[in-house]
Amino acid sequence: MATDPILALDARHVWHPFTQARTAPDPTVIVRGEGASLYTADGTRLLDLVSSWWVNLHGHAHPHIAGAIAAQAHALEHVMFAGFTHPPAATLAARLAAQLPGDLNRLFYSDNGSTAVEVALKMALQAAHNRGEARTRLLAFEGGYHGDTFGAMSAGASSGFYAPFQDKLFDVTFLPYPATWAGDPAVEAKEAAALQALDAALGEDVAAIILEPLLQGAAGMRLTRPAFVDEVMRRVRGAGALVIFDEVMTGFGRTGQLWAARHLQEVPDLMCLSKGLTGGFLPMGVTATTQALYHAFDGDAFAQAFAHGHSYTANPLACAAALASLDLTLSPQTAGHWARIGAAHAAFMPELMAHPHIQQVRQCGTVLAAEIHGAGDYGGNTSLELRQFFAARGLLLRPLGNVVYLLPPYIVTNEELRRGHEALLAAATGFGRPPGRAAS
Ligand SMILES: *Cc1c(COP(=O)(O)O)cnc(C)c1O
Repeated sequence: MATDPILALDARHVWHPFTQARTAPDPTVIVRGEGASLYTADGTRLLDLVSSWWVNLHGHAHPHIAGAIAAQAHALEHVMFAGFTHPPAATLAARLAAQLPGDLNRLFYSDNGSTAVEVALKMALQAAHNRGEARTRLLAFEGGYHGDTFGAMSAGASSGFYAPFQDKLFDVTFLPYPATWAGDPAVEAKEAAALQALDAALGEDVAAIILEPLLQGAAGMRLTRPAFVDEVMRRVRGAGALVIFDEVMTGFGRTGQLWAARHLQEVPDLMCLSKGLTGGFLPMGVTATTQALYHAFDGDAFAQAFAHGHSYTANPLACAAALASLDLTLSPQTAGHWARIGAAHAAFMPELMAHPHIQQVRQCGTVLAAEIHGAGDYGGNTSLELRQFFAARGLLLRPLGNVVYLLPPYIVTNEELRRGHEALLAAATGFGRPPGRAAS
């Protein structure tokens, strides 16, 4: 492969994310994208059924978003955001506020999902501090993933990637996560145990709980029932603490509604968005909150203010991309795609559940996931072999351990979805084994 000059440069100088370079195969060089597909220089097509790490909504290189970025780049590429504002930032904040649940209509811009989470955690802690309340503890769910910065790692410490930093993470109280799936007989018992743990954890020292509403992504597309999330929120509110929704993955339609929050009765106090925010074109994060929380930072002294910001806060190109993506997201066609993909997954579920090597099938809107019994752990060879198996079929699929899932761009065609569904069955046949009576 050293004959490819790009691969040679990459092999020499680039450090890839979540990659063990010693054992990883050469990365695939992609030069072009269109619709749900990515293309190599020789024109080989790879169907992207994971939306490139869950960011792409409307297809690759979508002309409406590409055009908006280009036009903005010719007008204003960036201006510092302390003491300045600009049309795309103010317009985007207003348009998002109009769509966000309840009174989440004050928005803080940052750079990615991790920073959107850091900002939410810092706002929750500082709001208590500013009010003179001794609320310093945070709650989170086991398995939650909130990003790779230190605060986000602390809130997601149970997800398992953080051993080298363990003593640098701050203390967070973790609650059991009552993951459920189609035909799960034990869901009520798991939810009851989780609520009992929540009650035990709640106290006057709790500032906030952070959670991925309805669907934990990186933990393996783990689902909870809406009524459980609502009950958690009522109890947290009852104890005077804030609720932070990490909708970095679930936002912008993944769950079949614009937000996971739209499946719920209760409204969070803070909501983190990123990934799909720009349609998958540029990195940007948003932390949305209420005017009430915003005003907890009012004061004559700067010490009351939220002293947080990034060089590229509210980058105009990213805002322009987000506005253009929102045009597409809010169109009736896109809502139709959510319903179409959801129906295709639902129609396929019985076939998937009938496979002898498949367990714990679950669906949430456009996301379908299942476990292949006996397939390997994260980073293990089986996981890598699964990826290569899918790639050989022309599909970009990236299992989480033994969890295979589809999380496609919304413009995916029915025929393309069918290819994904068939690949899941074939992978189960090739890599799984029937669950034995003795659990492994
Ligand atoms: C991806 C993700 C993050 C982190 O976002 P980055 O942009 O990768 O920093 C946070 N929370 C959830 C739920 C995510 O899926």
